[in-house]
Amino acid sequence: MRKYVIMGVQGSGKGTQSELLETGLDLVHISVGDIFRWHVQNHTKLGAQVRRAMNAGELVGDDLVESVVRDRLDQHDWNFGFVIDGFPRNGRQAEFFMESYDIDGVIHLELPDDEVRRRVLSRRLCPGCGMDYNLIADRPEVEGRCDICGTQLVKREDDTPEALAARLRDYHEKTRPVLELFRRKEVVHDVDARPSPEEVQQEIRRVLSLPAYEPSASSAGA
Ligand code: AMP
Repeated sequence: MRKYVIMGVQGSGKGTQSELLETGLDLVHISVGDIFRWHVQNHTKLGAQVRRAMNAGELVGDDLVESVVRDRLDQHDWNFGFVIDGFPRNGRQAEFFMESYDIDGVIHLELPDDEVRRRVLSRRLCPGCGMDYNLIADRPEVEGRCDICGTQLVKREDDTPEALAARLRDYHEKTRPVLELFRRKEVVHDVDARPSPEEVQQEIRRVLSLPAYEPSASSAGA
């Protein structure tokens, strides 16, 4: 079973690249942020606990994160393996993860902060089906409407300049040291996140020695 971690600053394309890995490779994409967003949207008890931190762009407490990750990984709903996105994000989470699971590879998507700001502030999300859009690179056909289900697109509540600044600060202060920790185990693959999503996917598969990406076999929208 393959166990991969995908890391990178917000807007570096972790979600898109994880979905492309999922398509055709039978790798299950686990996004901790998506799990939390589901709970917030569905007004669960967990959603109420994490909403404030999420909207402010702050990290959710480690105990909650670890229990969510443990429950999700305990489901074992994969054949080939999984790619986990948005976790670990600090030293403690990394230690918890490395104690419990062997990691086959860490993909680090590299993107300069200026490009992060440009991408994140133009990001839009469909609250109906979860499809992601970007007003620069991946516009919907009809302005403001989802191509798949027609629902009015929204900004993620945490995609504000203030929350983005907090997330970038957290990333540099807390998440970068995690990369250094992984680097000591020699499992980190640095990938330039600036080319097109297809090119980035091709490079990820090359460094992980996975079968090449075939766009025609994919239904993911980049
Ligand atoms: P993401 O979609 O990965 O940007 O995550 C959205 C938000 O969920 C983050 O800004 C945090 O508030 C929270 N979150 C997601 N993953 C983690 C994590 N590993 N540790 C703490 N908070 C997290």
